[in-house]
Amino acid sequence: DHVARLIAAGEVVSRPLDVVRELVDNALDAGASRIEVELEGGGLTLVRVRDNGAGIPAGSVGLAPLRHATSKLAPDSGAALRVTTLGFRGEALWAAAQAGELHLVTRPAAQVGAAEVQACGDEVGVSRTSAPAGTTVTVRRLFARLPGRLRTQAPSATEAREVTALLGRYVLHWPGLHWRLTVDGEVRLTHAPADHRGAVASVYGALNANRVLPVSSGAVRGVVSRPELTRPRRDRMHFSVNGRPVLAPPELERAVIDAYAELLPAGTAPLCVLDLTVAPEEHNPNVHPAKQIVALADLGAVAAGVRAAV
Ligand code: ADP
Ligand code: MG
Repeated sequence: DHVARLIAAGEVVSRPLDVVRELVDNALDAGASRIEVELEGGGLTLVRVRDNGAGIPAGSVGLAPLRHATSKLAPDSGAALRVTTLGFRGEALWAAAQAGELHLVTRPAAQVGAAEVQACGDEVGVSRTSAPAGTTVTVRRLFARLPGRLRTQAPSATEAREVTALLGRYVLHWPGLHWRLTVDGEVRLTHAPADHRGAVASVYGALNANRVLPVSSGAVRGVVSRPELTRPRRDRMHFSVNGRPVLAPPELERAVIDAYAELLPAGTAPLCVLDLTVAPEEHNPNVHPAKQIVALADLGAVAAGVRAAV
């Protein structure tokens, strides 16, 4: 019923940061080369993600905000999830429409007109409009109908800071794209296509970028800092698995630190950005609603590979 649906939606989207992550994942899955994020009121007033990706064909756009509507899992893939996209549950747009007001404008490059979708709860309206190729998704008044959720939200400045950090991680792991984040109309982060070093420059400044070295060894790519750029905390160690920024298991952080041997002062950590590629059947991103934790079938082997590469 209505209440059960609201609760389920709140599991997928528990804060504005979740909406940003889901919408950015959709833009990446759509093959976008330019992704722009806007945040107002810490995301409770507005979250908007604009991309120049594949768009949704007018014929199927009305389905997008329905629960479990996804174009990304083959119908015969069954329970043996073989995930090659960042999204796969078909719940993000649905949850955004349940928890707030969803507005989506989309046009595949080959289609003449654009489609517009307004969804609030289970009410879905589709109309025609015109727009550049790609997709713009706007979520307004998040949790306005969920006072319990609204009460437990962080202050908007805190949420904006965390969204900025999240976008920074996307820039670090997807440095070949155009990125832009504005918070309450003010540009917080911009990045033009570059390599990993360029992404470090966009996120942490040129000084840090000048002190990283490339890592490129088959399944492990990115940059690590020279030993002198050492930090008291592990807060600048970034990993992605098949393009998804993840909270790294401590074993992977350890593998990087160990690779420096005695070059790093004890208890410190380097800056690193490492993109890991594993076979889809070797990892399961479906263990956590936010998909930030992935289960790796052979963590030991992956850690050894990371250590050797670094
Ligand atoms: P999922 O990503 O798990 O498939 P979502 O609810 O996030 O589910 O999106 C539903 C569907 O809407 C996607 O499968 C995709 O077909 C389409 N879609 C959503 N966002 C975009 C986008 N930015 N560009 C193109 N298609 C999109
Ligand atoms: Mg998705």
